[in-house]
Amino acid sequence: MSSTTRARRRLRPSRRRAVSPRQTLSALALSFSGGLLFVTSVPALAVTATAKQPVEDVYHPAPDEIVAAPQKVEVADDIEHAVIAPVSYDVEVAPPPVAAQVAGLGTVALGESRSVVWPVADPSRTSSGFGPRSAPCAGCSTYHDGVDFTPGNGTPVMSIADGVVQLATENGGGLGVNVEVVHNIGGQIYTTSYAHMQYGSLAVVAGQTVTAGQQLGVVGTTGQSTGPHLHLEMWAPDGVRFDGMAWLHDRLG
Ligand SMILES: [Zn+2]
Repeated sequence: MSSTTRARRRLRPSRRRAVSPRQTLSALALSFSGGLLFVTSVPALAVTATAKQPVEDVYHPAPDEIVAAPQKVEVADDIEHAVIAPVSYDVEVAPPPVAAQVAGLGTVALGESRSVVWPVADPSRTSSGFGPRSAPCAGCSTYHDGVDFTPGNGTPVMSIADGVVQLATENGGGLGVNVEVVHNIGGQIYTTSYAHMQYGSLAVVAGQTVTAGQQLGVVGTTGQSTGPHLHLEMWAPDGVRFDGMAWLHDRLG
């Protein structure tokens, strides 16, 4: 090759260079979009299909079968069993009820009262204690059979213990509006009487079961009374009336 030919070749523009950059970009863009069209229009699974494995089989593969083997837990022979201490507890047996004679009801099985309470909310206000006294009114006794609380007219009067009402009357004579309740207190039968309550205030009827603190009526001045007060009488198991104030103070402080 002569030097002249070499120089001519060097100067002759190549065919590739004849293609403009813009044409090259257009061709690339066309082939790229064509490739996209191919990729997006053919399902992916179909690509893996071969002649031996038709497309249909690829689309409908056999379902998996899961065989669950039974589980086993092996425990060493020398394992120690924990010994759980037995739970211990005490059982309190309720004392048996006591048969009591209740007026109008005959023999009644009375369960032991669960508590003893004052007959009024403020028992500190009293006027007349139990025992001999000078009669406060004409016809009043010189021996006071009960204790008088003076918490104020209309103050609720409550049963001092669980029990059964044996009398609830507005015609209690000198006792006015009066309620009597029979109780089993510590296995012994006691009777309490709540006198001089207001007319229309009776909250219980004869034969009714009441609980400690249950309202029976309100403080009044009915019957042989010189002013609003609660006259409380208490009968011991032997049927003899006693000083209820001292007895309640012993239990309630
Ligand atoms: Zn009295």
